[in-house]
Amino acid sequence: AATPATLSAISNGAKNGVLVKGGAAMEALATMDELYSDKTGTITFGDFHVVEYEASEEIIKEVVFMEQQSTHPIASAIVSHFDSLSLQAVDASIPVEEIAGSGLKKGDIRVGKPSAFANFNDPQAYRDKPSLDHTTVFVSKGNDVVGYFSLSDQIRHEAVEAIEGFQEEGIRVVMLTGDNEAVAKLVAQEVKVDEYKSSCSPEDKITFIQESQAKDKVVGMIGDGINDAPALANANIGIAMGSGSSVAMESSDVVIVKNDLSKLLYSYRLSKRLNRIIK
Ligand code: ADP
Ligand code: MG
Repeated sequence: AATPATLSAISNGAKNGVLVKGGAAMEALATMDELYSDKTGTITFGDFHVVEYEASEEIIKEVVFMEQQSTHPIASAIVSHFDSLSLQAVDASIPVEEIAGSGLKKGDIRVGKPSAFANFNDPQAYRDKPSLDHTTVFVSKGNDVVGYFSLSDQIRHEAVEAIEGFQEEGIRVVMLTGDNEAVAKLVAQEVKVDEYKSSCSPEDKITFIQESQAKDKVVGMIGDGINDAPALANANIGIAMGSGSSVAMESSDVVIVKNDLSKLLYSYRLSKRLNRIIK
């Protein structure tokens, strides 16, 4: 059973917006060596806006219809950007499939991360066009890339401070993202993480965590998406953003209620003080 000091630390954390699920998790937080973090929705707001696109109206309608079935932050940005389009012409009988951390598929139409289209024809040379500092998704019909959408997002300022704080505590901070290399590099430089990995699949995120664990590192992982849930469950301490998907929260030991990473730093310091008291 948790000691009174542990319970009091949990309650103190909760008052500060960090829910720690139990004494073991509260005590484990203090032993963390490395903190892995998702990018979209965690280090950034995940509040995307379409800044540039190219595609025929017919394709745009298909994409909007597909994105209506997805909860990804990119989906809501595309849906709201084109909310005046009528989708009457779209064949709604063809099912839309979501490929977590990659994109969507409906019949012979696909939308998703550029790296998933490496083997597709690109007659319009869209691959060379999209401005590299934005998150970009490609659309294909059959074997051809037939358009793209570029979206902007913004960094959470508290994330920058929190990352620096963790580094001062001797914790290595690594960003794992499904986004492309150019965006990952820009964000990584801005928030000064120790290392970053781009174009990660949900499985890649697990692999990086397990590689660290094999070196006896205690790994914390923060994320918000359905695609992060397996990595959160595999980390020693899974940490979810309160705005995230419910499956991310269920897979986690810790929930940052108002998405403020500096509160996690506060809880980490609390757990270190606690472990000094109970040992
Ligand atoms: P992150 O790891 O940064 O949170 P995700 O794993 O959620 O990112 O997504 C990785 C990439 O997959 C996105 O940058 C995007 O290119 C693509 N993607 C994921 N879901 C969708 C979707 N619903 N529509 C279009 N593209 C998507
Ligand atoms: Mg995310």
